[in-house]
Amino acid sequence: MEKNIKRIYGIDLGTTYSSIAYVDEYGKAVIIPNAENERVTPSVVFFDENNIVVGEVAKESAKLYPNEVVSFIKRSMGEPNFIFEYGSETYRPEEISSYVLKKLAQDAAQYMGEKITDVVITCPAYFGINEREATRKAGEIAGFNVRQIINEPTAAAIAYGSLDTSQDRVVLVYDLGGGTFDVTMIDIRKDSVEVICTGGDHNLGGKDWDDRIVTYLVEKYQEETGIEEDILDDPDTWQDLQLSAEKAKKILSQRPKTPVSITHGGQRVKLIIEREKFEELTEDLLERTVDFTREMIQTAQDKGYSGIDEIILVGGATRMPQVSGRIENEFGMNAKVFDPDEAVAKGAAIYGWKLSLNDDLVRRISEKTQKTIEHPENLSEMIEKSEISAEDFKIAAQELADDTGYTLPSVENAMLRVKNVTSKSFGVVAHNATDEQIVFNLVLRNTAVPVNVKKKFFTAVENQKTVLIQIMESETSDIEVPIEHAEEIKTAVLHLPPNLPADLPIEITFDLNDEGQLHITAEETSEQRQVEVVLDTASVISGEELERAKERSQSLVVH
Ligand code: AMP
Repeated sequence: MEKNIKRIYGIDLGTTYSSIAYVDEYGKAVIIPNAENERVTPSVVFFDENNIVVGEVAKESAKLYPNEVVSFIKRSMGEPNFIFEYGSETYRPEEISSYVLKKLAQDAAQYMGEKITDVVITCPAYFGINEREATRKAGEIAGFNVRQIINEPTAAAIAYGSLDTSQDRVVLVYDLGGGTFDVTMIDIRKDSVEVICTGGDHNLGGKDWDDRIVTYLVEKYQEETGIEEDILDDPDTWQDLQLSAEKAKKILSQRPKTPVSITHGGQRVKLIIEREKFEELTEDLLERTVDFTREMIQTAQDKGYSGIDEIILVGGATRMPQVSGRIENEFGMNAKVFDPDEAVAKGAAIYGWKLSLNDDLVRRISEKTQKTIEHPENLSEMIEKSEISAEDFKIAAQELADDTGYTLPSVENAMLRVKNVTSKSFGVVAHNATDEQIVFNLVLRNTAVPVNVKKKFFTAVENQKTVLIQIMESETSDIEVPIEHAEEIKTAVLHLPPNLPADLPIEITFDLNDEGQLHITAEETSEQRQVEVVLDTASVISGEELERAKERSQSLVVH
């Protein structure tokens, strides 16, 4: 059996843990253990003088070196103001995330006996333009050819759908990770995975459950010792309590109670936390996820999807038994915890594998027909439109199956169509009828992508020299949004010739592709002046800074 297709690995770059997977010779997604023989690696980076340490050791080091350890960096992806200073150097979230990716790749290369080059990386569905671009840049800094960034719930659904391809179904994916919460409705069919709608909160995750325990422990310490000081001001105690809280939370998923001890300033307080108490302390957090879920079901209904066939729970924090309990109670159906730590990486690997099979099919068909296929991703459409004959496709598929040993149906189904929606609304700042400045949305969240929308705006005054186009991102579904509810992602300037009248039409086009990249043009139609906006925003590492990060990364071994 000759395995000659290029491996594309799937990476789940998580807030708290990350993992990498590939598809084996039987077409099965498999997690690659790290050098410590663990299937997940903490997304924690320890700057240890000239070394960068990632993973469990970094996590443990946080206690001793709180200022040299960076955790939860994913929460800062795409944030322009986040800079971590170490020695004389500064690091952006993309670069710090790239160290996590490098650690995964180095360990995987060791295990697989080949260099990891091509990858599919996942990100939360609600990541906006900057966060997605930052994730891609993190991959580039780590030295990868980033084939695609796909949404975590989509990846989980691909992994789930791959288990049983015989039935079409609408699945609700409830994903509660370490730092993020996503809820997504997905239509899974034999040859496609279509996102119906998605929502969530990027500041809600298992860590918030930990924080509630930490606050409770501090209160208990104060009660027991009579000491009023905020013991969390001490970074050692803070780290210690964070670790104990997470541990306690995990135990409470298995047992009805757990002992915890708090040590600070030579004083030690021991106590027992009961599951009931823990559930009471965190009830509102769980309710927030239920509210989001309800909202998503309603949005899907508005789009014509009246029912759900299955609910799947992914993300490590769904192991807390109260999650499935509450969801089942609220929605009256079984909620299965599905491979919570691994589904996302495995789904990304399956997606990468399909991309790779598809690439190979395209290569074979091209060679045979002497036709150049410019967009390999459109292969199935080309067959539908008879631009490629079904016969040529069949022959190529059979050859590929014979060469690789993969089954013919799996090769034929390589052309999995993934349809996404945008998780944000995009618009521009304009004046409304009452002359207030508002954001006017051209693309509304939960619209299927790719999408191309045009809209005419008008200049305000005679002889206007420039038109300022402020591009805004928001999480509402309204067409008109107050400016304070949106975030600016880029500003472009269209220069106009002199002596133009007021009320001149300016046509703005938003072109959003299926990877969440936005391309914008603004055209003054009388003389056809145009500006094009490419969204490499200041929030994402670019130019010299990016090159420096890449160079720094090349000369770096991550431990
Ligand atoms: P993820 O981002 O999907 O890897 O999820 C990580 C989160 O799941 C962290 O907050 C973990 O503390 C949490 N987690 C992992 N295992 C358990 C468990 N057995 N019980 C409760 N939470 C867990």
